[in-house]
Amino acid sequence: MLSGKVALVTGASRGIGREIAITLAGYGANVIVNYNGSAQAAQEVVDTILANGGQAKAVQASVAKDEDCKRLIEDALASYGKIDILVNNAGITKDNLMMKITEEDYDAVMDTNVKGTFMTIKHMYRAFLKQRGGRIINMSSVTGLSGNAGQTNYAASKAAIVGLTKSVAKELAARNVTCNAIAPGFIATEMTEKMSDAAKEAVLSQIPMKKVGSVKDIAETVAFLASDKAAYITGQVISVDGGLHM
Ligand code: NAP
Repeated sequence: MLSGKVALVTGASRGIGREIAITLAGYGANVIVNYNGSAQAAQEVVDTILANGGQAKAVQASVAKDEDCKRLIEDALASYGKIDILVNNAGITKDNLMMKITEEDYDAVMDTNVKGTFMTIKHMYRAFLKQRGGRIINMSSVTGLSGNAGQTNYAASKAAIVGLTKSVAKELAARNVTCNAIAPGFIATEMTEKMSDAAKEAVLSQIPMKKVGSVKDIAETVAFLASDKAAYITGQVISVDGGLHM
């Protein structure tokens, strides 16, 4: 489904990004596995892909820094000549009651989640225009659509991704570049592992399907949006959340 395509997945060393990288490689894409601190985990993702007969390499870059985003995109273009699929998955939380959120925690969340997404697209923009084709898939969250007590900074960042996604979709649509967002609900990863049992129970009770989602649920949605099957879909936010937000 994706053979001959080059995919860059940010934050692909762990959790959802890891599964996206492995899934896109499984469909034939050559995958750049971006990570920030987890070099060993990123190499393990690459080794898994190579062992399955796919193509991948790991590249360190903090998407919270503009110069790293620039290097990440420029190096990929120098190596492969194109990026067909850009998945902005890297994201962090710094949860607390709003009155306790420091400026540092606010900036860290906004820099990683919003600025990172903005800058990778910005540095890829001219190449997308020249390519006259491409797929951008940004990771939002149910929290960006519904809000969540204790996650004001994170909710603001994930809502910003929705506006960014729709605006980019409008700018690049005529060049055959689609830009969509996915809003995962409650997915079992290290990010949600940090939540208290009471908080987990509270969310679970609100999910109509009465179960948490898997990283595979998100990865297969990314693969669909990246494929030719989704050629006429742009500017959309696809919720993958067992019905949590509707
Ligand atoms: P996770 O398990 O905590 O993994 C986060 C990933 O992001 C790691 O690979 C990490 O890499 C990377 N990362 C963090 N800061 C980075 C930076 N500055 N530069 C590059 N990479 C960075 O999180 P997850 O649950 O898989 O979440 C992935 C995405 O889905 C996030 O955008 C999150 O907001 C979103 N999401 C998750 C859920 C959920 O229920 N899990 C729900 C809604 C939305 P290193 O370890 O190498 O630093």
